Amino acid sequence: MTPRQELLAWLRAARGAVRWHVESGDDRLSVPAGFVMPPLGRVEVAPRPTAPARNLGPAPMTPRAATEPPQARAPSVAPPAHAPVLVPVVERAGALEALTRHVGDCSRCALAEHRRAIVHAVGPADARLAIVAEAPSADDETSGQPFRGAAGELLEKMIIAMGLSRETVYLATVVMCRPPDDREATANEIAACGPYLKQRLGIVRPEVIVAFGELPMRALVPGAGSIPKARGKWLDWEGIPVMPTWGPTSLLADAEKKRPAWDDLKKVMARLVLTGPKKPT
Ligand code: SF4
Repeated sequence: MTPRQELLAWLRAARGAVRWHVESGDDRLSVPAGFVMPPLGRVEVAPRPTAPARNLGPAPMTPRAATEPPQARAPSVAPPAHAPVLVPVVERAGALEALTRHVGDCSRCALAEHRRAIVHAVGPADARLAIVAEAPSADDETSGQPFRGAAGELLEKMIIAMGLSRETVYLATVVMCRPPDDREATANEIAACGPYLKQRLGIVRPEVIVAFGELPMRALVPGAGSIPKARGKWLDWEGIPVMPTWGPTSLLADAEKKRPAWDDLKKVMARLVLTGPKKPT
């Protein structure tokens, strides 16, 4: 990409982020003086703490392994400090690929009968942030990737407004097959597909998970309650802080939720020490 193309791409991204700020009613947008934009796709991050290597074990290759996820815990007021990822990223990427192969042509729940495609999670194995939504949309099913269409475009604005890029975030859904007529996934379907999600999150071990909506929040933290009450308050899954909030689909349906959702995402930014979009030099 030439410097001119890079600048134009940055301006397009910044315009989307500013629009999101305006739509969310946040008039406190500011870019700290002195910040320098890194090359596109790279995000300035605080260094991860280091610790002795830990073996996550072999990638799941049996149905039994895939059905025994880490146990979700009840919500806690003060989640424990994030446990750093200690396995080399290449091994984590390999484990994610092995899990995708293991899923194969899955028919563990009734959603297999109606789906056009399994929509696997996407994103880097060393992502600092993971976002979990409920289920693939029609656009997701067509493209084979989560968070496409209008909701995906809004999500991208939100991610850029946070100072990240879509490519740096791990994006997943609780169930990987689209429910017919976009109905809510049933408890059986979540019980069947949830272990895949938890295995993926256990491999990536992001520093923060954002749960978009009640179903993803409860899939990770069963006792979390309702999203209107729980949103904006930190929960905990396996030592990883979870921030429940409204996702793009809800925000598209009700613009009044944009401001509180942005307030929740600012807590995530503070936790990740993100400062918003960077200016080009
Ligand atoms: S939703 Fe998950 S468990 Fe159910 S068929 Fe699809 S991939 Fe398998």
